[in-house]
Parts: sequence; structure tokens; C-alpha cells
Amino acid sequence: MNKNYPKIPVEISARHIHLSQKDLESLFGKGYQLKILRKLQSTNQFAAEETLDIQVGLKKISGVRIVGPVRKQTQVELSLTDAIYLGLAVPFKESGDLKNTPGATLINAQRKIKLSKGIIIMLRHIHCNPEEAKRLNLKQGEIVSVEIKGKRSLVFNKVKVRVGDKWKLCLHLDTDEGNAAGMVKKGVGYLIK
Ligand SMILES: [Zn+2]
Repeated sequence: MNKNYPKIPVEISARHIHLSQKDLESLFGKGYQLKILRKLQSTNQFAAEETLDIQVGLKKISGVRIVGPVRKQTQVELSLTDAIYLGLAVPFKESGDLKNTPGATLINAQRKIKLSKGIIIMLRHIHCNPEEAKRLNLKQGEIVSVEIKGKRSLVFNKVKVRVGDKWKLCLHLDTDEGNAAGMVKKGVGYLIK
């Protein structure tokens, strides 16, 4: 093994929705709490049992998973393919940066809310905790590259490093990026810096 290219676990994030408590209650009722379907490995979050439909005009994507716990603001993470399907111009953003983003209608059966903003295409990023960052000589906010091997081998550039106490080392890609690299759900990459 080449010690200059450490292994990075990769997870492919399918489209999903983070909700504020206010929007959660508007869609599911007062005091509602999300039910945990499964815990996510690399971050301190969980896939909830609940799903929502996303509608823009006549176009709709059904059964989009909610990821908990609730956040300060509602954020919908789509792939570029999803955005094109919905006919929306969606910017590439970091989590939490919802300036100049489009909205959509979120639907749970008879209940719906109309978001004025909050839809993003997530910029690719690595999560790690401070010990992992130290071991790999990574710094918060640093931009690195990650190579994926295999028949659709490619190098993802402009990968931003995010360091957090509760995280485990992982590169997060969306389904378009995973598909381009021939990777479904999860795999492994090699850190280049
Ligand atoms: Zn992530």
C-alpha cells in the first residue's frame, strides 16, 4: 500500500430533507418527534422513518427521506439530476448556506408547506474528528482530492474537509457523483493532497 494515499471510506448520500422543528410540526402535528429508522455511521444523525414528497409546479419527487435530528433551518439536499427533473436552478452549496436558494412545496399526505428557500446541491466534503484530522494531517476547511479506483476510476477535486467531535472519517458524495464513479451506497477512496 502506498502510505501517501490513505484510504477514506465513502458514503453516497441519496436526496434527503433536514427539517426545522417548526416545519416538522407544520407537516406532522404539534410536538411531533421523528422516528429513527437507522443511525448514520459517519455523522451523529439518523435516517427517519418519515418521508415527504417534494413538488415544484407539476413535477414531484415522492418518498424523500427525512434525516434527523431537527435543525435550525429546513434544508433539502438534491442531486443535479433531481434539480433538472424539477426544473429548478439549484446552486452548489455547503450545508447551512441557504442564501439565494430556491424553495419547493413539501408534502405529507394532506399537510403541506411552501418553502421560500432551502434547496441545495451539497458540495462534496470529508467528515472527520480531530484525532483523524491529526493522523491524516488534515485541517478544517482544507481542500483536498480523493481518487476512486475501479472501472469508472476518477479523481474528485475540491473536496472540503470538515472537522467535528462527533464525526467519523468519511467522504460524502451525492448519487450523481457516486454514479459517475460507479459507486453505489458506499465504497472507498484514496486521499490525495
Ligand atoms: Zn456530510
